[in-house]
Amino acid sequence: MKFLLDETHEPKAQSWVESANVAGSDFPIQNLPFGVFRRRDAGAAARVGVAIGDEILDLQGILNEGLLVDDNVRAAAAACAADALNPLMALGSTPRRALRQRLHALLRQDAPAADRQAAARHLVAQADVDMLLPALIGDYTDFYASIFHATNVGKLFRPDNPLLPNYKYIPIGYHGRASSLVATGTPVRRPSGQTRDGDADPKFGPTKALDYELELGFFVGDGNARGEGIAIGQAEEHIFGICLVNDWSARDMQAWEYQPLGPFLAKSFATSLSPWVVTMEALAPFRTAAFARAETDPAQLSYLFDANDQEHGGLDLWLEVSLLSPQMRKAGIAPMTLGRSNFRDMYWTMAQMLTHHASNGCNLRSGDLLASGTVSGAEKTARGCLLELTSRGKDPVTLPTGEQRKFLEDDDEVIMRGFCEREGFRRIGLGTCRGTILPAL
Ligand code: MN
Repeated sequence: MKFLLDETHEPKAQSWVESANVAGSDFPIQNLPFGVFRRRDAGAAARVGVAIGDEILDLQGILNEGLLVDDNVRAAAAACAADALNPLMALGSTPRRALRQRLHALLRQDAPAADRQAAARHLVAQADVDMLLPALIGDYTDFYASIFHATNVGKLFRPDNPLLPNYKYIPIGYHGRASSLVATGTPVRRPSGQTRDGDADPKFGPTKALDYELELGFFVGDGNARGEGIAIGQAEEHIFGICLVNDWSARDMQAWEYQPLGPFLAKSFATSLSPWVVTMEALAPFRTAAFARAETDPAQLSYLFDANDQEHGGLDLWLEVSLLSPQMRKAGIAPMTLGRSNFRDMYWTMAQMLTHHASNGCNLRSGDLLASGTVSGAEKTARGCLLELTSRGKDPVTLPTGEQRKFLEDDDEVIMRGFCEREGFRRIGLGTCRGTILPAL
């Protein structure tokens, strides 16, 4: 596992795409995330692009211009002549890194004039496209890797014994539903399902406890053959990059259905993703030590332990979730931040989650999505879902309009953001993940 810094991370590098140089832009030349877009013109096809400032560089266009000569770069760009990132993901990290270096050189302010002119012909304004899901996601798995989230939620149900005995040994996860993954901006219909109030008879109807979960997702790059695992020391080489995930959850349905097999219909109705996948290369400057386990905690079993992963497997990434109610929208009030947490506080690293997932011989495939579980921290300001923030509705949040929220109401919009910043490096962002609640049918 290597986290190489190279010329693509130079903090002073600027782009001839001026919007990329604006302070606070999520997509400076140091980021270069991949995504799939479609122009709003009638009949336009889905294409793979790289975000730069407010624009997108169309990779098939660049390939056709003959601007890519090196074999690795051409292999990576050829894999981008697709309507999803799966072929690029399947290539692994070497061609992807070569393509990143070439794109960085093409987009730099000091790129040769002829290259600039050729590349400029293939810029598309982000305002003129719809962003699609970045990959054809065959399988989606959701973990539970925040010990703060697991403890806070556990306390609500088992005040004396919040963490179950397996938590510090196993990166806990469940198989989610891939068919209902949606791109940012897609409205989410309030689900109906079975709930039970105390000892009353169970009822079927719209959820009264709709929640968001602030999560980080990561995509499998090169997968593994069935029957063979992925060694912890190799795990990062199998991760392509990250995005934001909102794992919408119906808490009243969840509470009634989850025993003994875990979440089912309380979560499978929709999961929203941000559209840009920030590569592991772009994240290199922001890697940090894994979570420091308490001295009384058990050591990881050896298949989950790697010295390099312990030293660099964490990620210093801020995640934020905010809410915009219809009344706030009408009054022109900005979304209210409900939670701000950092991914470095996760109990398990991405590598540990991936290695654990494949440790029984389960084959992971390019484009599979693994999500971290709700990212929460120690502080009350760092809670990644309403279940935790309102203590299951007991302690409602007051919005700037004076409205209160125990859980989400119809027409509420949930907005998630993520970004990395560190002294001596250019800030990079994940963009946004938005979703608005539609009334139940
Ligand atoms: Mn979740």
